[in-house]
Amino acid sequence: MAEGALHVRGVLLPEGEHRDLWIVGGRLTYQPVAGAETVADGGWVVPGLVDCHCHVGMTPEGPSATEEQMVAQALTDRDAGALLLRDAGSPVDNRFVQDREDLPRLVRAGRHVARPKRYLRDVGVEVEPDELVAAVAEQAGRGDGWVKLVGDWIDRGIGDLAPLWPDDVLAAAVARAHRLGARVAVHVFGEDALPGLVAAGVDTLEHGTGLSGGVLEEAARRGIRVTPTLVNVDTFPGIADSATKYPAYAAHMRALHATARDRVRDAYEAGVPLLAGTDAGGVLPHGLVVAEIRALHAAGLPAEAALAAGSWGARQFLGLPGLVEGAPADLVVYAADPRRELGTLAAPARIVLRGRVVR
Ligand SMILES: [Zn+2]
Repeated sequence: MAEGALHVRGVLLPEGEHRDLWIVGGRLTYQPVAGAETVADGGWVVPGLVDCHCHVGMTPEGPSATEEQMVAQALTDRDAGALLLRDAGSPVDNRFVQDREDLPRLVRAGRHVARPKRYLRDVGVEVEPDELVAAVAEQAGRGDGWVKLVGDWIDRGIGDLAPLWPDDVLAAAVARAHRLGARVAVHVFGEDALPGLVAAGVDTLEHGTGLSGGVLEEAARRGIRVTPTLVNVDTFPGIADSATKYPAYAAHMRALHATARDRVRDAYEAGVPLLAGTDAGGVLPHGLVVAEIRALHAAGLPAEAALAAGSWGARQFLGLPGLVEGAPADLVVYAADPRRELGTLAAPARIVLRGRVVR
């Protein structure tokens, strides 16, 4: 009899087979373990959900979260079923989260790389274009295989969204990150920055609300992933309302919001792999991954594809396996089939993180 061993029986996703699995030493096994405690019998078993774009360390009040606030953010995500978080840039050091057995796994991108006055204040590292390659190299050394770039933002001189970086500098910076073994995630709202970003070979487009036409086809061809952050895009009209001094920018943000759902559906149909991310920590609270999965479905993804974007598909992209022999025991059990009704994701029956029942 194995001390602390657990037993789960149910329909395992994405395969959809009714099976028994055991958990011992924080890992899954399909070899029966005598004396294991049954913690779920029946239901649907899903690899831990993933929030592919959140910020542990940022709060709506500003980029200065305390350790206590960061723990609360991570616990909120965990209790919503999100057992793996990709942190898309944090101004404060959140590495301690990775040492806590009770908190979700965290893949970090270091700090945002932006230009002076071209991003949220006090959040990113701010450099001029001739310093971009060096700044990217430095952040590649500080993250867990990810660098976060700000690709466009309002240029108050122009009064509208505009790219931050010349295309040749961008290409050199992305190449440098890749040589250092880091992937590049880029914040981009508008259309104009996209051709340069796609040509530079970035790995993920965050928000990506301007993606359509030829540049969408090119992103699909290159296998660039997109994190639509639809729950965050729903804040665009509010951003527009408060941008009274910049009417062109305000109109642009409203237009991007109005077309966001159609563009997500177009991206899916074009074969662009999508990721579920909430942008929690900016203006939104943590714990919204299920709302984002449902928003992707409402935009036109089949329910199973929307779930994959926030579970097994995203885990695989971030380097974690699904419910296979020897995998880390991170899973969520639901009473009903989430592929039939995504609403069931709002009420996890069991959450197992690192082989321990946390709910
Ligand atoms: Zn973000």
